Amino acid sequence: MAKVNQLNNATFQDEAKAREWLETQLWPEGQTCGHCGTLGEATALSTRPGWYQCNACRKQFSVTVGTLFERSHIPLNKWLMAAFLICASKKGMSTHQMHRMIGVSYKSTWFMMHRIREAMNQGTFPSGLGGKNKVVEIDETYVGGKAKNRKNKIPPKAAMLALVERDGSVRSFRVPNVSATTLRPIIVSHVNRATYIMTDDAPVYTAIGREFSGHGSANHAAEEYVRAQFWHTNTVENYFSIFKRGIIGTYHHVSETHLHRYGAEFDFRHNHRVGLGYSDRERTTIMLQGIVGKRLTYRRLDERPNR
Ligand SMILES: [Zn+2]
Repeated sequence: MAKVNQLNNATFQDEAKAREWLETQLWPEGQTCGHCGTLGEATALSTRPGWYQCNACRKQFSVTVGTLFERSHIPLNKWLMAAFLICASKKGMSTHQMHRMIGVSYKSTWFMMHRIREAMNQGTFPSGLGGKNKVVEIDETYVGGKAKNRKNKIPPKAAMLALVERDGSVRSFRVPNVSATTLRPIIVSHVNRATYIMTDDAPVYTAIGREFSGHGSANHAAEEYVRAQFWHTNTVENYFSIFKRGIIGTYHHVSETHLHRYGAEFDFRHNHRVGLGYSDRERTTIMLQGIVGKRLTYRRLDERPNR
């Protein structure tokens, strides 16, 4: 595995080197105070490597203050190693495998991976997906459902909606159901109205389709699955296929509570894929920009390590 060789890089082995590297990435113009945002007005603390005192607010900070890595006891080089591994593996990586590779306890690894997924969460695209002369494929699928007690229940399934711009980006959403009432607000707020949208022939999309510059529907039941190389939803179906293989093959099953986070992970990799010119290292660097300004308390009520 060629990827492992890259892990011998000093950034992944040495905490001080990891910190220096992250500083160059997050502070290209100089130290920025994580408390008040002042740039280049800090004094390095000789007694505490990697720490600075802000001359403006007088508080002390390091490169991880005000980020998702703040107050973590995990050495920074392990964070960078985990970030690289999750960014470089197409189908994701199980907590068990990550735990073995980075040498951090299973429980801590589980929390680290969710922090990294949070950093991958890109928020909204300012101008929306699609646009004039662009096609966005829209589809929904059901994920998971491993019954805890097979005797009494049908396995629960969670619905996911994905919006995929051809040759562009994807956004996926965990949705409570696939009614027009649920889907419409998501679709109209994330897809530019000048877009040509492509869906299957489910009636839920009929009225929504009228709000866009065009709407084609591919009929799964008929032979017109791929019509004229244009009239299809293959792109979104491929996306779901990778997502599901990842969820089933790598993560085995995920609880509904965390499904949106796995969606963010797969969206991020798709949106920074090799085909768009991103290397593993570039993808990791972009992901790490996403730790800034986000904070999670170490443990939230809805979190428990269950993969
Ligand atoms: Zn400050």
